[in-house]
Parts: sequence; C-alpha cells; structure tokens
Amino acid sequence: MTTIIDGKVVAKSIKDALVPRIEALKKKEVTPGLAAVLVGNDPASETYVNSKAKACEKLGMYSEVIRKPGTFTQAELVEIVEGLNSNPKIHGILVQSPLPGQIDEPTITTHIGPDKDVDGFHPYNVGLMLIGRGRLLPCTPHGIIKLLEYYEISPEGKEAVVVGRSNIVGKPVAVLLVQKGKMANATITVAHSRTPNLKEVCRRADILVAAIGRAGTISADMVKKGAVIIDVGVNRVEDAGSEKGYRLVGDVDFEECKKVASFITPVPGGVGPMTIAMLMANTVTAAETISGIQ
Ligand code: NAP
Repeated sequence: MTTIIDGKVVAKSIKDALVPRIEALKKKEVTPGLAAVLVGNDPASETYVNSKAKACEKLGMYSEVIRKPGTFTQAELVEIVEGLNSNPKIHGILVQSPLPGQIDEPTITTHIGPDKDVDGFHPYNVGLMLIGRGRLLPCTPHGIIKLLEYYEISPEGKEAVVVGRSNIVGKPVAVLLVQKGKMANATITVAHSRTPNLKEVCRRADILVAAIGRAGTISADMVKKGAVIIDVGVNRVEDAGSEKGYRLVGDVDFEECKKVASFITPVPGGVGPMTIAMLMANTVTAAETISGIQ
C-alpha cells in the first residue's frame, strides 16, 4: 500500500499550531506582519503573492503587498526593502521572484534584514542553517522536513538523493537532511543536470527528492521499491480538456511511481501547501524574535 502524502492536512496542522502563538503576540500588542514586494506583472507571481496575503488574513496576521512596475530599478527596490527593515508593523519581508533582468536578486536578498528574512535566503541565515543553528529556514525545504515528520518518516540512517541543486530548494533540502539531529542524520547525494547515470543514483534512494522543474524526469524504473518520493516540481503541461488549457504536474511520473513507492507527494497538494505554511511560521517566529516575546 502506498501512502499519498497530503500536504494540505500537514500545512493545516502547522497553521493551527501558530494560532496560540499569534494570540500570545497580540496580547502584547504585536500583530505579526508580512510585506510582499512584487515587481512587474507576472501572473504566477501575482497568484503566489495573493495566496500569501490571504493566508496571513486567515490567521489574523497583518500583510501588505507592495506592487511596483517592471521598470523599477535596483536602487528603488533597495530603498523599499530598507524602508520595510525599519517598519515596526512588518516582521517578515519577501521579494517575490522572478525579478526583472535589471535587478540582481542576490543583491536584494542581502539588503533584507536577517531578522525579517522569512524566505531564509539571506547569506547570514543560510550560514546558520549550514551549521545547524538556523531559526528562519527556507520555507520549501523546511516544509519537506515537516511532511516527513508528520508521516513519521525518519531520515536517520537513510540514503537520500536530492535531484536539483538550486539555492532555494535542492541545496537547502540536502543541508537539512544531513544535519546531526532529529529529522535528519541521512546520507546525502545531490544530483543535477551533469550527473551521469541519474537512474542508478536515484535507485539508491530511500528518500528521493525531485526539485528539477521538468515534468516526468523521474520514471518508475528510477525508483527503489519502497522509497519515499517527495516531488517539489511544479510544471505546466498542455491539457485541452481543462478550462485553462493546462494542468500542473510535478517532476515525477506520479501514476507509475506510486506503484513502487511507499509514500509519495502529489502535485498539486503535496509540497506546495507547505511552502505557505512555513512562510507563516517564519513570520510568527520573526515577530517573536524582534519583539523579544518567545
Ligand atoms: P532550478 O533553479 O531551475 O533548479 C533545477 C535543478 O534541476 C538544477 O540544479 C538543474 O541542474 C537540475 N536539473 C535540470 N534538469 C535536470 C535533469 N534532466 N536531470 C537532473 N537534474 C536536472 O529550479 P528550482 O527553483 O530549484 O525549482 C525546482 C522545481 O520546484 C520547479 O518546478 C519549481 O517550480 C518548483 N518549486 C516548487 C515550490 C513549491 O512550493 N512547491 C517551491 C520552489 C520551487 P543544474 O544545476 O545542473 O542546471
């Protein structure tokens, strides 16, 4: 029997656990606040930002969406971020990617105050994560660990293969899984587009994380029997039968791989809901830290 991991249920449990923490903050007259900055008018980014603002609203948190045109300059964006760094109503800052070509994303990230860096991408927070002292961990990787925890899948002593080495998913997932500690202690391989024999590498995995961005990259013959599959990919594939003309799929051939796996995340409804839940959790943590209320 294969268990389909339900990200919506786990995300709800994470958000439910935030309610008493938010209430405790409000008693001290602190309302956790998230600011999202959106530059340009990418429709997918607009959807992401709106769902983050809606999640804040549902939890009784404060949120602000700052929309700027695609012609916005790097200097102007730095000024906005620095204004948010000193805005007492804001505890979490996120600058939605992708940014227009004239803006260097890593430079913007370094201007976000590390205490308000709820994406966990500032080099200071990345460094803390690497040495196992992270407090604001990147949302999607941390959400993956929380999915495993909820389903009582301990990575300890397991072979974990992460396919993808981006700074936002692949590398941080690997860093979290290899830490010395609870929900970690795995033996890690990170694969990427230059990895020869990807099939053989993936077949070693007790836990296989696919963070590639290409539909159908992981087929059933790449999966060891009984493996746990975490599919991070979100890809649009044409679907004439659907209203929008497309549907979302992951990087894994879900129907075939679920016959081999012990646990598998669907797309949508697996990792996706966790990202927003962890963003809410980071904003509450940031509010607690900044206001000195733990
Ligand atoms: P990315 O920056 O494009 O990185 C993709 C990685 O996959 C790269 O390391 C690349 O290798 C590797 N890769 C590409 N083709 C490959 C192949 N054929 N075999 C092996 N490795 C290959 O993407 P990302 O930002 O990490 O995102 C990955 C996916 O996750 C995307 O679909 C994205 O939309 C999704 N995502 C979902 C969430 C969520 O909340 N559910 C959050 C973030 C991202 P090289 O380094 O060699 O190029």
